[in-house]
Amino acid sequence: MLRHRGDAVRCPICGHGFDAFAPAWNRGDALCWRCGAHERHRALWLLLQARPAMLAQARALLHFAPEYCLRGALERAARREGFRYDTADLDPAGVDLQLDITRMPLADGAYDAVLCSHVLEHVADDAAAMRELRRVTAPGGWCVVMVPADVTRATTYEDASIVAPAARREAFLQDDHVRLYGRDVEDRLRAAGFTVEVVRPREAFGEDALRRAGLLEGDWIYVCGTP
Ligand SMILES: [Zn+2]
Repeated sequence: MLRHRGDAVRCPICGHGFDAFAPAWNRGDALCWRCGAHERHRALWLLLQARPAMLAQARALLHFAPEYCLRGALERAARREGFRYDTADLDPAGVDLQLDITRMPLADGAYDAVLCSHVLEHVADDAAAMRELRRVTAPGGWCVVMVPADVTRATTYEDASIVAPAARREAFLQDDHVRLYGRDVEDRLRAAGFTVEVVRPREAFGEDALRRAGLLEGDWIYVCGTP
């Protein structure tokens, strides 16, 4: 890591600067050398930094499939801002709550802040998952959703007959993805009862921040609200 120190790029999560980010298996300039953050994690953190009220006003935050780099930053934010921070996953290892996102044993409006990034592409019934996210998000709260998507596609590509890992990788980019989302993610979230704001990194953060934080233009962030 030391030999990559520099100030060409800077990770907004851990605050360290580098000559470039580390390569990932399929692309260069991707991962933070220090905290391991990917482009999408840095985009999400920039959003939370740009809108400090999101965490400052939160009382209880539910974080699905908690990413290591964000988890540490959110634990610190929870202590600082005084909100409860719960992690959840279908796999109970290392999380607070074992949850099936399509059927959560949680009260309506149990959380006023929810993070669900790169989960729905693994869920067969994503409409049910989105309705559950809507149900457990308290009125006036927020639910931030990210999915891997091909934003050049208007509509999501799904085919339930594609189940073999290699075929899924070919069709949906990864062995365990069940669809390839397009730009209609926001329509799906609205159908679940959310209001939806689409945050596109280039527009939201500007060209300079995009380059400095090493963000991907296509990592759109869906900031969902409960009317
Ligand atoms: Zn970092």
